[in-house]
Amino acid sequence: GQKVVLITGCSSGIGLRIAVTLAKDEKKRYHVIATMRDLKKKDKLVEAAGDAYGKTLILLPLDVCSDESVKQCINNIKDRHIDILINNAGVGLLGPVESISIEEMKRVFETNFFGVVRMIKEVMPDMKKRRSGHIVVMSSVMGLQGVVFNDVYTASKFAMEGFCESMAVQLMKFNIRLSMIEPGPVHTEFETKMMEDVAKMEYPGVDADTVRYFKDVYLPSSIDIFEAMGQTPEDIAKCTKKVIESNSPRFRNLTNSLYTPIVALKYADETGGLSVNTFYNLLFNFGPLMHITMSILKCLTCSCLRRRTVSPN
Ligand code: NAD
Repeated sequence: GQKVVLITGCSSGIGLRIAVTLAKDEKKRYHVIATMRDLKKKDKLVEAAGDAYGKTLILLPLDVCSDESVKQCINNIKDRHIDILINNAGVGLLGPVESISIEEMKRVFETNFFGVVRMIKEVMPDMKKRRSGHIVVMSSVMGLQGVVFNDVYTASKFAMEGFCESMAVQLMKFNIRLSMIEPGPVHTEFETKMMEDVAKMEYPGVDADTVRYFKDVYLPSSIDIFEAMGQTPEDIAKCTKKVIESNSPRFRNLTNSLYTPIVALKYADETGGLSVNTFYNLLFNFGPLMHITMSILKCLTCSCLRRRTVSPN
């Protein structure tokens, strides 16, 4: 029969594309429950789903930050039966920590960390009873490697990685699979929203040097990296489909082979020196030449590292 897939955060970006890709599966193997906080934002998804809408794809409201909303949504599903839960909803946060209030930081953790925990708590007991299920989490390369000026976002994704790495062991005993997807940069509203936020920021209480490192050094190189290395939401949707269709899905799934050397640095030197120094050099010494550095990195990525990613093709 059809597998019931519930996806969070489907009004835009990666979530929208995963929902549509699964709903349009040629063999109609998926019954997609595409969820979003506010159903008023459904138009883009409905349009992209086309004929699949109302057939292999239905919509339900779900706010991952609300106990009540999550419970209500899952109770509305027949027998509360979900085969595959895809935790995609997430928010970004960029900038010098001096300019970010603790409240704003908590909001990021509330969505990116507790939002996923809330979903897993609600869905896992039924999966345990059935001794089957697959939980997928949209993490990030920033769930594995710290990135300057993304301190709090990175921390929220690290928290998720730690939580899931711990859960994976007991879930295995219940025949429940758990997979993290770790994309590098992806061209979505996420990027646009963040750049808009940054442009509006005034950086009260931040010293001039830090503001300069952020605006004149980090931001231009970050834009370069997005240009040079960015994947599309389609790419990530294809990778995600591969992961859920695999007979033995891996726990971690980087989608962009250009990031495997960066992650490898961390595991090659457990003192952290190698990764911290490399990032320092990338930002402050090669910053203006970032795209050249990236091209070199592209050439250097050896085939054995490339194999260790899930590719969209
Ligand atoms: P996006 O902003 O287009 O999508 C995020 C979605 O989550 C939006 O539809 C938003 O409405 C939804 N959302 C936010 N708070 C929510 C809540 N409380 N309840 C329900 N939905 C909520 O951005 P995206 O790039 O598609 O991001 C999707 C996921 O991919 C996020 O978890 C993000 O951290 C991750 N990711 C993105 C990138 C990137 O470069 N874009 C890279 C790696 C990982």
